[in-house]
Amino acid sequence: MVEKSVVNRARELREQLNQYSYEYYVKDAPSVEDFVYDSLYQELVEIENKHPELVAEDSPTQRVGGPVLEEFEKVTHDVPLYSLNDVFNKEDITAFDQRVQKALGHQVSYTCELKIDGLSVSLRYENGKLVRGATRGDGSVGEDITENLKTVRSIPLSLKKSVSLEARGECYMPKKSFVRLNQSREEQGQDVFANPRNAAAGSLRQLDSKVTAKRNLSTFLYSVADTSSLASSTQFDALQELEDLGFQTNQERKLCHSIDEVWDYIADFQEKRGDLSYEIDGVVIKVNDFEQQEKLGYTVKAPRWAIAYKFPPEEAQTVIRKIEWPVGRTGVLTPTAIMDPVKVAGTTVSRASLHNDDYIQEKDIRINDKVVIYKAGDIIPEVSHVIEEERSKNSEPYQTPENCPVCGSKAVHLDEEVALRCINPKCPAQIKEGLNHFVSRNAMNIEGLGPRLLNQMYEKGLVKDVADLYYLKEEDLLQLDKVKEKSANNILNAISDSKGRSGDRLIFGLGIWHVGSKAAKILLEHFQTIRALEKASAEEIHSLYTLGETVADSVVTYFSKKEVDDLLSKLEKAGVNFDYLGKTSSELAEVESPFKDKTVVLTGRLNRYTRAEAKRRIEDLGGKVTESVSQSTSIVVAGEDAGSKLTKAQDLNVTVWDEDQMIEAIENSST
Ligand code: NAD
Repeated sequence: MVEKSVVNRARELREQLNQYSYEYYVKDAPSVEDFVYDSLYQELVEIENKHPELVAEDSPTQRVGGPVLEEFEKVTHDVPLYSLNDVFNKEDITAFDQRVQKALGHQVSYTCELKIDGLSVSLRYENGKLVRGATRGDGSVGEDITENLKTVRSIPLSLKKSVSLEARGECYMPKKSFVRLNQSREEQGQDVFANPRNAAAGSLRQLDSKVTAKRNLSTFLYSVADTSSLASSTQFDALQELEDLGFQTNQERKLCHSIDEVWDYIADFQEKRGDLSYEIDGVVIKVNDFEQQEKLGYTVKAPRWAIAYKFPPEEAQTVIRKIEWPVGRTGVLTPTAIMDPVKVAGTTVSRASLHNDDYIQEKDIRINDKVVIYKAGDIIPEVSHVIEEERSKNSEPYQTPENCPVCGSKAVHLDEEVALRCINPKCPAQIKEGLNHFVSRNAMNIEGLGPRLLNQMYEKGLVKDVADLYYLKEEDLLQLDKVKEKSANNILNAISDSKGRSGDRLIFGLGIWHVGSKAAKILLEHFQTIRALEKASAEEIHSLYTLGETVADSVVTYFSKKEVDDLLSKLEKAGVNFDYLGKTSSELAEVESPFKDKTVVLTGRLNRYTRAEAKRRIEDLGGKVTESVSQSTSIVVAGEDAGSKLTKAQDLNVTVWDEDQMIEAIENSST
């Protein structure tokens, strides 16, 4: 008889893990980090191994993933999508190798791949054409998300050969996109995603594929449902074959002939994981030979021929000294923990966003609490939890401020927003943030004007809105700290130069809610001038591909305001350009340039252009600028001190140019 306490613990673990799985898979909003889930899961595995009679049907050890959402059509997978068994140390990997050797009777080679932290998808192609894309779901039944997957640019709609197969792989959100998405969600008063994996899942399971299209997702494909649909007989060759068919595959794979080699690969990527542009949570080790894989077979949940090594979490402990509530451009108050500096995953951290007041209440974060912190997506410092045992007896729950810390007006929650907002349009913090945004690189790009000067201009009453910048005179600027005649003139010239920027940058600079630089470009490319956009209806805007209702409503509301009308007149009177000056898609088709239809990566320090300018010029000439070097990169432009991207380009035999060659190509292109 199994002890009652063990039976109870197993039940408790099952219930707890099932609840966490529901939050993770269905809500895309986990309430605990993966390592917490993983350690409870391991505890349950150990109990079940000792007492097989306790293995219940609803045990998470018997199931893959989570339930499928009702909102989507269901897809039955002809060949199930499995999960992977996890291991956490070298001994477990060695034990896996021994099991494999024992079952096959000889040594084997392994393909090591990075374990991409996204969600698995399956892509069915018939005669080379994409016909269906689905989530893994519970492994047997997934969700039909074809329309959403079609918006992911790295997924080929047709393959390079007219074959029929079902490819499988991981859809993920690059770290930079994750950071940008969370920043804008925070600015707009929405909940942030806990990590890139949940952000990717939340983005793919959207009923409106326009939303998915904007989320900048990507994929790495790594297998097929039926290996007989490939010519390859090993995993390592299959990855190359998938790549040759037009799929994006991860380039960091390695064929290893011993467990020591496998371990070196793991150690190497444990070091390098922070440098990758996507998040990984471990390494997947797969028996290389397909025949050997078939002999080893599957358990109910995972293949016996593969294992996932999970990296340990990188955490640190520190104390929260203060919570500040800076006010953003749109009035959102974002609580920010000020902590004793501590090193975590390579950098010293002393601030962490606490996102909103619900988050503080849920985690019961208090001043002087000792907390555990980690980095979400390897980059954003997050508070994991409070170490309650170390809390002082007289500590009190944190009280959310009732007023905007800058202008003192009442802070409110609008509609169902989680964020607290200052809704005073004259709040100095919002105006100053708006000015900073207006002069920023992707907006009007006014060099020489930064937060310090803008703050002084505002405080001295020289500038009350963005249009006032265009009415500044030399004597105004000379009133500012450390501004002499020469720098005043430079600033005035930079302001004057900015009058000629394309109208989409002005639209972005005005800071209309939900309108980022991409949306601004789409809007102005279509309407050609701000005066036409001003008159557009929400339906007209919404009908533009990739722009959703939120953007459309926000633009219409913005232009309906009397003060916006006044602001535009003031800008127009100052001679600021309202027209779109970029190339339209049809003009791009006529451009002749060495960048046309080429994928270009910029690396190292450029002298003549900033990265952003070079990117814009190349895009205007029909090229696409991406972040990482792969076999599909056409040209790598290597500036000074170029590092690993240059090495990789050389390894892959990708054409490398220096900055002068890039400039020559830009200047010689016909536009
Ligand atoms: P998993 O993510 O641990 O591993 C299996 C998956 O790895 C595969 O389905 C595939 O999608 C992916 N993968 C990535 N790169 C791969 C590659 N190169 N080759 C093959 N597969 C690759 O398993 P899972 O079943 O998707 O999820 C379980 C994990 O999810 C848990 O271990 C836990 O970390 C996390 N989880 C967390 C919570 C939470 O509340 N935080 C809840 C449930 C699950």
